[in-house]
Amino acid sequence: MLKPLALGGTADLSDEAARPPSGLPDKAELRDRLGKLVERIDQLQVALFAENRRALLVVLQGRDASGKDGATRNVFGPLNAQGCVVSAFKRPSELELAHDYLWRVHMEMPRRGVIGVFNRSHYEDVLVVRVHELVPADQWQQRYDQINEFERMLTENGTTILKFFLHISRKEQKERLLGRLEDPTKNWKYNPGDFEERKRWDEYTSAYRDALRRCSTAWAPWYVVPADKKAARDVLIAEVVVQALEAMNPEFPRVDPELLRKAKLID
Ligand code: AMP
Ligand code: MG
Repeated sequence: MLKPLALGGTADLSDEAARPPSGLPDKAELRDRLGKLVERIDQLQVALFAENRRALLVVLQGRDASGKDGATRNVFGPLNAQGCVVSAFKRPSELELAHDYLWRVHMEMPRRGVIGVFNRSHYEDVLVVRVHELVPADQWQQRYDQINEFERMLTENGTTILKFFLHISRKEQKERLLGRLEDPTKNWKYNPGDFEERKRWDEYTSAYRDALRRCSTAWAPWYVVPADKKAARDVLIAEVVVQALEAMNPEFPRVDPELLRKAKLID
């Protein structure tokens, strides 16, 4: 089971750390295990939906080809479509840029009863924005504290937040990006910008390190997921999600006994 990163802690973002922990079963067994975990998430999600009081937000961040789409599909794809909403954050539109950076994020927060999955998130505003100097440094530097306060407000209002950094090695990323070029069903995923971003590998590593270090709070912790192996990646994420939902312990609302008594009298 993955452990949350401590606030102020330095994440190991070396290539070795992208390999799954030793001792995990083989791929077939991991897929089996994922099936069981997803079933459990589904059961808990039904209760969360019925309870209609709280929400769960899962943030997925990671470099290009780190598996954000794959994890979304494998862990959350099988759930009841009514109870799970996926939001992908791309380059902000003109309208979005006309507001503060959290505006579009707040609008996408899952409503009560729902699991929200963010494929990229407000963290782009301290990652790509920092690496490409899209706003002055004094502005993005203020954002770590702003994000922590934003996430605190959200949790205090009933949303549990889990954040996953899908950590892949340089070598694995290269293979996956080349794979996108070679496989006609994956060409559409290839973006020439991906290789440009890859050149800034170390700058992204520093930006991620700071985001993880400064924003892994008690109320919205970061988990670093070794993501070089897809089956392990999915199981590691699903385990944390199950644990969080079990801790939330959503309850089906009880029917009012008086209502039940009256209903039984109806002919
Ligand atoms: P993808 O996830 O591959 O579809 O790509 C989405 C792109 O949008 C990535 O290159 C992100 O870095 C970029 N993006 C997401 N959020 C922002 C943001 N706030 N500012 C600038 N670029 C962003
Ligand atoms: Mg991409």
